[in-house]
Amino acid sequence: NQIFTFDNPLAGISDVAKQFLARKHSLFINGKWEAPVNGGTRNVEDPATGQIISTMAEGDAADIDIAVRSARKAFEDSEWSRMSTNDRAKIVWRIGELIDENAQELAELETLDEGSPFGICKNFYVKLAADHFRYYAGWANKLTGSTVPTNMAGQWHSYTLREPVGVVGQIIPWNVPLLMAAWKVSPALAAGCTIVLKPAEDTPLTALRFAEICREAGLPDGVLNVVTGAGAAGQALVDHPDVDKIAFTGSTETGKAIVRAAASNLKRVSLELGGKSPVIVFPDADLEKAIPGVAQAVMFNSGQACTAGSRLYILEDIYDEVVAGVAEYTSSLKLGHGLDPNTNMGPLISARQHARVSSLLQSGIDEGAKVMQGDVEMPGSEGYFIRPTVLADVNSSMKVYHEEIFGPVICAMKFDSGDMKGLVQEANNSSYGLAASIWTRDLSIAHQMAAKVRAGVVWVNNHNQTDAALPFGGYKQSGWGREMGLAGLEQYTENKSVGVYLGE
Ligand code: NAD
Repeated sequence: NQIFTFDNPLAGISDVAKQFLARKHSLFINGKWEAPVNGGTRNVEDPATGQIISTMAEGDAADIDIAVRSARKAFEDSEWSRMSTNDRAKIVWRIGELIDENAQELAELETLDEGSPFGICKNFYVKLAADHFRYYAGWANKLTGSTVPTNMAGQWHSYTLREPVGVVGQIIPWNVPLLMAAWKVSPALAAGCTIVLKPAEDTPLTALRFAEICREAGLPDGVLNVVTGAGAAGQALVDHPDVDKIAFTGSTETGKAIVRAAASNLKRVSLELGGKSPVIVFPDADLEKAIPGVAQAVMFNSGQACTAGSRLYILEDIYDEVVAGVAEYTSSLKLGHGLDPNTNMGPLISARQHARVSSLLQSGIDEGAKVMQGDVEMPGSEGYFIRPTVLADVNSSMKVYHEEIFGPVICAMKFDSGDMKGLVQEANNSSYGLAASIWTRDLSIAHQMAAKVRAGVVWVNNHNQTDAALPFGGYKQSGWGREMGLAGLEQYTENKSVGVYLGE
């Protein structure tokens, strides 16, 4: 019931979160807190105020090497990969339970570190993170191979085994960081892998708290190691010869650098990269739901989502109505600190992202898009807020049409109702292929479009909905492989064939 103020945003948070922020954070290696070899530290900032709220350890290649050796030892020596699968499942499940039990603190830390509204962090991001552990706990004792009838029946008995891939390096971004950690850690643990997790330098806090939760859940030492640090620490993980697989979420540019570096020992690589997802509104859509839905497709997490529906195609008959409605909706958003209960949109993550998004927005204006920003009150703070904006009348010659903006900017385009083939071509006119959404009440249009759009995830009459059971990943330059579901688990396994000769 605290009245929120920008002057003292921490006043209303729980004591445990306050104590966590006040700690001098180290690296989590082999089940213990270890100071970084070079002694480096980095400030952790609240993006809504620009204030320093904590410090983190700046790990580098030397720490990565120690963490990889710890993960290797845990993989080879500890019981984790050979543990009874029910016992492994119990620990993975328990991690989910403990995430739920610590939801208040985790959501407070996430809000302060990443900027999202507290209610969304607690009821959505933290809850979903816990769900991933419960989902994958159920797979730990169901990882099966199969018997395979070969062409030499009678002489051979052949079967396959699913084995853990080994030591995995997981590199995650600053947007929804706890959930990003859960997407990666939960299937890897269920498969029996050991892990070195490298959180983004802008958002280290919940990953560190999560490491303690895993220890409390009974995860053996060395199975999960967390090394905070900048891109160089991620690079050291990718370069390390004793890492068997890298799983990465972040920018397409860094993803390409990872692919090149991973060639050194041909480690397995899975990538969740950028997007420029098309959103298509047909005239028969339920506009009362579609208008806020397509606005939220971008405004969700202040536009900082790889799935952000940032190319909005509206069929000509309803273009003016939808653009006006979306602009009105975005104007009604209340920007502020995520701990303020009145806030429904937070800041961008950093000064760097603020400058990047502002510059892209300006390029859209300079190239002739019509700007609709509404009368949104900007918070009186030093935080990295951007006014939610609709750029109308965008066309494919503009930079904003092709580049991932990663901010609260919608690019709206009018489309000719009689040209379905052209619409599909336009929707696919991107080097990305992560997600798309179709807004219509016509089942036939919905399924036809779902089949024709080249994207890893297609939503009908919603956007950004994910579930631990449903595979997620991109076509084209949006990535390699899938996370979540059985497909996500298989990324952490090797498929071994065994052929037993039965003849003389
Ligand atoms: P980034 O890809 O550089 O960083 C993501 C993670 O990779 C961080 O943990 C970072 O420390 C690490 N990293 C950086 N360089 C590395 C390297 N050479 N080897 C290994 N790891 C490395 O992203 P960014 O610079 O923070 O953001 C830039 C843009 O990327 C954003 O504006 C946005 O467009 C995009 N982005 C996309 C996503 C997504 O979910 N698809 C997430 C974050 C950023």
